[in-house]
Amino acid sequence: MKSHFKILIIGAGSAGISVASRLLRQSSSFKHDIALIDPAMNHFYQPLWTLVGGGAAKKEASKRDMKSVIPFGAHHIQQAVVEFDPDNNEVRVDDGQTVSYDYLVVAPGIEINWDGIKGLKETLGKNGVCSNYSYEHVDYTWETIRNFKGGKAVFTHPNSPVKCGGAPQKIMYLAEDAFNLHGVRENTEVTLCSANPGIFDVEEYKRALEKVIDRKRIKTNFRTNLTEVRGDKKEAVFENLDTGEVFTTSFDMMHVTPPMKAPSFLADSPLASEEGWVDVHKHTLQHAKYDNVFGLGDASNLPTSKTGAAIRKQAPVVANNIISHLKGAPMEASYDGYSSCPIVTGYRSLILAEFDYYKVPTESMPFNQAKERQSMYHLKKDFLPIIYWNGMLKGVM
Ligand SMILES: Cc1cc2nc3c(=O)[nH]c(=O)nc-3n(C[C@H](O)[C@H](O)[C@H](O)COP(=O)(O)OP(=O)(O)OC[C@H]3O[C@@H](n4cnc5c(N)ncnc54)[C@H](O)[C@@H]3O)c2cc1C
Repeated sequence: MKSHFKILIIGAGSAGISVASRLLRQSSSFKHDIALIDPAMNHFYQPLWTLVGGGAAKKEASKRDMKSVIPFGAHHIQQAVVEFDPDNNEVRVDDGQTVSYDYLVVAPGIEINWDGIKGLKETLGKNGVCSNYSYEHVDYTWETIRNFKGGKAVFTHPNSPVKCGGAPQKIMYLAEDAFNLHGVRENTEVTLCSANPGIFDVEEYKRALEKVIDRKRIKTNFRTNLTEVRGDKKEAVFENLDTGEVFTTSFDMMHVTPPMKAPSFLADSPLASEEGWVDVHKHTLQHAKYDNVFGLGDASNLPTSKTGAAIRKQAPVVANNIISHLKGAPMEASYDGYSSCPIVTGYRSLILAEFDYYKVPTESMPFNQAKERQSMYHLKKDFLPIIYWNGMLKGVM
């Protein structure tokens, strides 16, 4: 195995694969000179997990063998990076070897901190405690919703950045719809406990979602953060983030969105911002200090919502700017903070939020996307997976 590559990419997730494919399409000079380092055997299309938790898709459809998504012409080094040495253009992997590079792309995603909530790991997957944020447990969400006989259904959103900020509420809307269909809605109290100050932070979509919440008679507790789960007693402990008040509530089922953080090996490295993310320029995606380092995706400090949709716009910027930099030309590709969140509001309805750094809607459809639409539900369920596997990962969309 070569130990030096023109382009070295850390993480073969949505971001890493998209950048590798784009570079390989754009110049034959990269062929066999790009490597992706990632210990994973499989690649996941995580946006599907919302529908899996809601019983509308099978989890196996979200998983592909990593080998099948690594683009032709790129190497896959199946190791985990443990250390960055950007002054010497090297990374160290977990078997102790080093790999060097001309250009580094940092995209190891976000780390789920299951230990951030006392008792969660012990009870996840039983006692009615479920989470769509784990491939292993995502089908337990549907098992829980499907078998729910009424009572208190609680949905949480943590006090940390999360991947897909809309996902914690999407599963709540699907569950509420399922409770209606199964005839248990009338004896069920649905509550959202969110650390956020409101339901969404783009005004147009916030107003629309507030109407959804009213129509569905969902109780909301904003600025509340889950700190402990006592699964055997079916009790959850929350903290009010404004007053510091701690309160305990009972539940019959609870969907937990766990706290998340920057991967530790990145946070402890010279590439990290103060908060631990890879510190990049918000338009060029070039590292703030190291010219030959770029970063994107969930692991970056880009001040926008962490989504695959955002990566679809970030990947071409990284690829184009690396090529320009290599040629000594100005880096003209610029990312505007675009992100998108297809907010499923039921089994036949969806609000397609699209916005930029300024929280201004940047809608791509010729109609008002703040309106719930069945067509947009089918876009998410039937078309976006095709676009992902056959377009984005192949570097063509
Ligand atoms: C339930 C759920 C619903 C979602 N819904 C949507 C949606 O509707 N729309 C949307 O656009 N997005 C959605 N997302 C978010 C989307 O999946 C992520 O934003 C996207 O996958 C991030 O891509 P990434 O490449 O940054 O990270 P990932 O795709 O998570 O990939 C990171 C890769 O880095 C690897 N890695 C980690 N540590 C190391 C290491 N030490 N060394 C080397 N490699 C490492 C991992 O193995 C992984 O393969 C959802 C996510 C979830 C969980």
